Amino acid sequence: MNTERTGGRALAAIFSGHGHPFDLREFPIPAPAQGEILVDVSCSTICGSDLHTWHGRRQEPTPCILGHEIVGRITAFGPGAPRIDLRGEPLTEGDRITWTLAASCGLCFFCRRGLPQKCEHLFKYGHSSIAPGREFSGGFAECCILTPGTGIVKLPESLSDAMAAPANCAVATVAAAFRLAGPIEGTTVAILGCGVLGLTAAAMARALGAAEVIACDLDPHRANPATRFGAGHFCQPANLITDSRSRTNGRGADVTMEFSGSAAAVANAFAATRTGGVSVIAGTTTPGGSITIDPNELVRRMLNIRGLHNYAPQDLVSAVDFLSTSATTFPFHSLGGDGFPLPEITRAFESATSSPGRRVSITP
Ligand SMILES: [Zn+2]
Ligand SMILES: [Zn+2]
Repeated sequence: MNTERTGGRALAAIFSGHGHPFDLREFPIPAPAQGEILVDVSCSTICGSDLHTWHGRRQEPTPCILGHEIVGRITAFGPGAPRIDLRGEPLTEGDRITWTLAASCGLCFFCRRGLPQKCEHLFKYGHSSIAPGREFSGGFAECCILTPGTGIVKLPESLSDAMAAPANCAVATVAAAFRLAGPIEGTTVAILGCGVLGLTAAAMARALGAAEVIACDLDPHRANPATRFGAGHFCQPANLITDSRSRTNGRGADVTMEFSGSAAAVANAFAATRTGGVSVIAGTTTPGGSITIDPNELVRRMLNIRGLHNYAPQDLVSAVDFLSTSATTFPFHSLGGDGFPLPEITRAFESATSSPGRRVSITP
């Protein structure tokens, strides 16, 4: 997007609900208001949640601009807008950045208690209905307005747009899981579910110095990618408990991480965790399913169970740092899908549908 070239207007793909074609429309580029930053979008990737919305499996207020995994360059600052990123580095026009998928107020009950992702006034990019003059709130457009309370991270040039865009979703969520898990060096980490989150977790466990990484998935075809992303052992769920114990002198994994979304996997994760270990549960984001826990197990085995939803701004910094150092150590390029220009957004969504687990990118 270039304001001269477009005459002060920018293109956006408007989503009006399942079954409606994307409507490509131009809107006047707004001047950033108090605390806001205007960004020229360079690349957005299609997340699983975008696909769920497009297919009608998830409801969003419409009309809206989908897309929350976004990379762009700063074009203008509103009055009082932040001039530093989450690391404290200065921000100027032209800086290439990514930002948290949500903006939080910093003042409410949950923000003041270290849970900005549960802010009572949370604003999520790609999840808000548009209003006249307030269109640019998602990634599938030529520009985006960053609202106050957004955590911004300047990107190193070594990280490509398509590689960096998912940092603010899957990779930051995994970084949050490791923050909850505590020190990883020398531990045995068992990961349940080897989709994008699980593979990223295997790689991050290795990068953090895990002594052993056990990956577990029902799909045997995921053994190969799990190994390439750092797993030392792959097993089926039925074998997780015995395989975790046989590698840890009978104790079980120090850390278990559940990204599969299956209730049975949650029970399996608890059972595979050693006494005093940590189990991070992050996979289930829709209601349904239940498990039986004997409280005696929780008490005697002193299990630390941590639920995780979304992430805090500092996790995005960890995610970008991790990708900067490890994106070439592990085959993250294999998670990338095809790229499409914004006017071909429908083809991009079709491509993402037919290649699950790959991040299809859209470049305005
Ligand atoms: Zn996402
Ligand atoms: Zn808040």
